[in-house]
Amino acid sequence: MARIITIANQKGGVGKTTTALNLAASLGEAKQKVLLLDFDPQGNAGSGLGVRDAEKSIYEVLSGELPVEDILHTEIVENVDFLPGNRNLAAMDAELANEENKNYLLKDILDKMAKNYDYIFIDCPPSLGTLTINALTASDSVLIPIQCEYYALEGLSQMLETIQTVREALNESLSIEGILFTMYDSRNLLSQDVVRAVKEHFNVKIFDTIIPRNVRLAEAPSHGLPINLYDGSSTGADAYRKLAGEILEKEV
Ligand code: ADP
Ligand code: MG
Repeated sequence: MARIITIANQKGGVGKTTTALNLAASLGEAKQKVLLLDFDPQGNAGSGLGVRDAEKSIYEVLSGELPVEDILHTEIVENVDFLPGNRNLAAMDAELANEENKNYLLKDILDKMAKNYDYIFIDCPPSLGTLTINALTASDSVLIPIQCEYYALEGLSQMLETIQTVREALNESLSIEGILFTMYDSRNLLSQDVVRAVKEHFNVKIFDTIIPRNVRLAEAPSHGLPINLYDGSSTGADAYRKLAGEILEKEV
């Protein structure tokens, strides 16, 4: 059965999508069977893997128009299958406002797929709305990327409150996979301060792996490739392989 991991942070630009697709690809490279879901209306995870402007997306599955098999892209990279999102997802909040089961829609879909995979990753939009709540409800755990910058800490408290609310109301077994520091610049003292402050003020698991700022990570999406295929010897590729190793270790 797959371990289902949501990648969430209500701030944009903190490295959610970069982490989702590169962690998925690194685990695939390590012979794990992985499913990646792009749950952001912007569809960035898709374009980062060369799937642009997907006509059929998870939206059509959630709204009952298509079976999930119809939108599944198999082996998009080694051992990684992919479910696209698209701009239709942006309407979900409003459309679902009065639906009774609105928070369990994604869970119902992923539970049926879990037997086919070792890991399922959900790349969330930068908000704590219906999409992210659906993702947290469907998941075993949540991985929270944090950019090493001054305002990072404000968002973290709010994120942890949301996780607590979801535990109480929708998914009591939701755990925190870990906080992941991203875009770390060792020459920048602020980066070091942010890491120290999170360790001091928050009692949550923090990954040993820290993702450095690496221009190759920023370039790779425009080539439609994960970092291990775009530049497998870059510091970014090394970091995501190390993160994959940490996730794997946890299982044994
Ligand atoms: P989010 O999904 O949280 O909005 P992204 O993963 O899209 O964030 O990252 C925001 C931007 O920063 C993108 O342009 C991405 O390529 C770039 N980026 C992400 N992580 C790194 C990194 N470690 N080093 C350099 N650039 C990065
Ligand atoms: Mg994103």
